[in-house]
Amino acid sequence: MSSPETLSVDVLIVGAGPTGLFGAYYAGFRGLSTAIVDSLPESGGQVTAMYPEKMIYDVGGFPAVRGRDLVKGLVEQAGQWNPTYLLGRKAQELRTVDDGLEVTLDGDQVVRAGAVLITAGIGEFTPRPLPAGDGWLGRGLVHFVPSLAAHTGKHVVVVGGGDSAFDWVLALRPVAASVALVHRRSKFRAAESIVREAREAGVRIITDAEVTSLRGDDDGELAEVELETRAGEHIVLPAQTVVAALGFTADLGPIESWGLTIEQRSIQVDTTMATARERVYAAGDVAAYPGKVKLIATGFGEAATAINNIAVLLDPAARLFPGHSSDKM
Ligand SMILES: Cc1cc2nc3c(=O)[nH]c(=O)nc-3n(C[C@H](O)[C@H](O)[C@H](O)COP(=O)(O)OP(=O)(O)OC[C@H]3O[C@@H](n4cnc5c(N)ncnc54)[C@H](O)[C@@H]3O)c2cc1C
Repeated sequence: MSSPETLSVDVLIVGAGPTGLFGAYYAGFRGLSTAIVDSLPESGGQVTAMYPEKMIYDVGGFPAVRGRDLVKGLVEQAGQWNPTYLLGRKAQELRTVDDGLEVTLDGDQVVRAGAVLITAGIGEFTPRPLPAGDGWLGRGLVHFVPSLAAHTGKHVVVVGGGDSAFDWVLALRPVAASVALVHRRSKFRAAESIVREAREAGVRIITDAEVTSLRGDDDGELAEVELETRAGEHIVLPAQTVVAALGFTADLGPIESWGLTIEQRSIQVDTTMATARERVYAAGDVAAYPGKVKLIATGFGEAATAINNIAVLLDPAARLFPGHSSDKM
C-alpha cells in the first residue's frame, strides 16, 4: 500500500470562499506559505455557488461589484503569493503532531501545517439532486454555471423557483440559443422583482410541472427533457444543458469532530479568532462570537486578525501588527 502524499505549509485554509481567499492573500503578505482546500471544484464559496451574477453593494471600495468579479479579484490578489489550491477536496480529519497539525483530505492526501484557519462558511454544500437526472450529472446536467461561455448557442432548461434559478435564467439568456424555466409549483421563492424581469424579458416559464426524464441523441449527448404538468400534459423541450437549481443542503460534516466548541453550526472563537483547539483558528460565516454579523466585509477583517495572530504563533518574534501594505509594495 502506498503512503499518502504529504504537503507541508505554514497555514492550511479550509474553505475557498471570500474569507479563505482573503486569508490566503494575507498569509502570503505575512510571508507564510499556504494551501487552500475546498470541496467545491471552483473557489468563491457561496458567491460562486449561489449568486455569481448578482451585484454586491456592501464590500468596501466597490460601490457595486458582480459576485464573479469579486471572486476573480480575490483570486488574483491571493495569487501573487502562489497559494496551493486543493479544489474538489474535502478536509476530513485533524490531528495534532509534534510540530503542528495534520489534516487528511479525501483521496488520502495529508497536509501538514503550523496552523489551520477554518473558513468553512455554512459548511460543505450538497446540491439537491434532480431525481429524473440520474446518470446525467456532468453530461449536460449541472448545478453550477461557473462559465456562461460554456453554454453559448445551447438550449438550456433551468429547473427551480428560487433566486438562483432566476439569476441563471437571466444570465444565460443573452448567450444561449433558448432558455426555459421549469418549476413544480405555481409560486416562486425568488424575489418578485426578478420574476417580473424574467417575464418581461420573454423567458418561457412553465409552472406546476416536473421534469420526468432527460434524453440523449444517437451519440448519447443530452438533447431534450420531458416534463409532465399537474394537468397531465407532457411537454418536450430541447436541452443541451439542464441547470438543476433546487438549492443546497449544507453541513460542517467532519469539522464537527475536530474538538472545537460548536454551537448552532458555528465555531466559537475569541478576539484573536482562535478556537478551543490549539493552532486552529476560524473566520468568516463559520466563526461565532457575541455580536457577530455574517457578511463578506466581516470575514475579510476576521481573516486579517486570524492570520496576523497565526504569524505570531508560528514566530513569536514576529509583530502582531503587519505594518501597512502600502509601505511594502
Ligand atoms: C444569495 C446570497 C446573497 C448574499 N449577498 C450578500 C451581500 O450582498 N453582501 C454580503 O456581505 N454577503 C452576502 N451574502 C453572504 C455571503 O455570501 C457570505 O457571508 C460569505 O460568502 C461568507 O464567506 P465565507 O468565505 O466565510 O464562507 P463561504 O462563502 O460559505 O465559503 C465556505 C467554503 O468552505 C467550503 N468547505 C466547507 N467545509 C469544507 C470542508 N470540510 N472541506 C473543504 N471545503 C469545505 C465550502 O465548500 C465553501 O466553498 C449573500 C449570501 C447569499 C446566499
